[in-house]
Amino acid sequence: MTKKIAVLPGDGIGQEIVAEAVKVIKVLQADGLDVEMNEGLVGGTAYDETGSPLPQETLTLAKESDAVLLGAVGGYKWESLDISVRPEKGLLGLRAELDLFANLRPAILYPQLADASTLKADVVSGLDIMIVRELTGGIYFGQPRGVRTLDNGEREGYNTLVYNESEISRIAKVAFDIARKRNSRVCSVDKANVLECTELWREVVSDLGKENSDIELSHMYVDNAAMQLVRAPKQFDVMVTTNMFGDILSDCAAMLTGSIGMLPSASLNAKGQGMYEPIHGSAPDIAGQNVANPLATILSVAMMLRYSLDEAAMAERIEKAVDKVLDQGLRTADIYSEGMKEVSTSEMGDAVVAAL
Ligand code: NAD
Repeated sequence: MTKKIAVLPGDGIGQEIVAEAVKVIKVLQADGLDVEMNEGLVGGTAYDETGSPLPQETLTLAKESDAVLLGAVGGYKWESLDISVRPEKGLLGLRAELDLFANLRPAILYPQLADASTLKADVVSGLDIMIVRELTGGIYFGQPRGVRTLDNGEREGYNTLVYNESEISRIAKVAFDIARKRNSRVCSVDKANVLECTELWREVVSDLGKENSDIELSHMYVDNAAMQLVRAPKQFDVMVTTNMFGDILSDCAAMLTGSIGMLPSASLNAKGQGMYEPIHGSAPDIAGQNVANPLATILSVAMMLRYSLDEAAMAERIEKAVDKVLDQGLRTADIYSEGMKEVSTSEMGDAVVAAL
């Protein structure tokens, strides 16, 4: 049956990079990929046209699709809007409405780009980690939360870290399943020595580990995990962790690679529906100049093929094509180094299409 992809370019460079990803999907369509693409509005662009950053039409389109390809949202133009209609609300609304609880953030450093990292090339060259972050629970959503005034007149801010067993086991299960398609190792990151909530996290993940004995499970406290990511990141295969720890560790891991324009991401729900997007934002500083790196978005298409469309071989074709254009020395400005050939957004997209 024809699978449906909702294409939501969004704002800023979102428009430019998604156009290149669409070129790639069209090549695969011509080679037999049975998908239909439908475009929708999201973010500031949607606000300008409809008064909402997430119009009902877009939400319906996303819900009825097998996968969503998103560019990015946000920009200077909309910064003064009321928070309830800011572009970012479009993104958060999609995550919440689709119940995208599992955020997959690979940190991959192509050997050709080892010099882009601030770490020594031998520490990071060939790095390939998958961080699985819980996305819809934990301290970012826990109640009660707020700022209150105490009897002595002093103000106090408070948030609640809360996870129930089913929230923990469903994210851990995603991590085990992904590890099975990679190198069969999962490191669960918590702070079980201090936080009861993550003591439960460790217990639930350990129990699930027994049912997944083909996967090597280890546990690490988050402070050590941060240190190990910078010291010897290649020791990790899949890391699974809470919303807040994942937020911080995945940014740290992304920066090990030094190239924000190269990293894709996926957010999945229990039905296997997913939203796929580059980890970077709408980059208003370079929008409209045809200089943004489209590879993170193109690699997000590869993740979509693998995790929502069950087309692993096509995913691999895209990844190999990206590898090839890097081997050819083609670089957008963000990953340019001396001796390489600088190309524009559309030239990079064309090169990937040719390599396919
Ligand atoms: P950003 O990721 O947009 O940009 C950070 C820096 O990286 C900029 O210098 C930018 O030019 C560069 N950069 C980003 N993507 C690039 C690419 N593909 N190629 C080359 N260079 C690239 O982050 P920011 O500047 O903090 O935020 C800009 C806007 O994006 C804000 O409105 C923010 O809210 C929004 N944002 C959206 C998302 C999202 O849609 N998922 C994520 C982060 C930020």
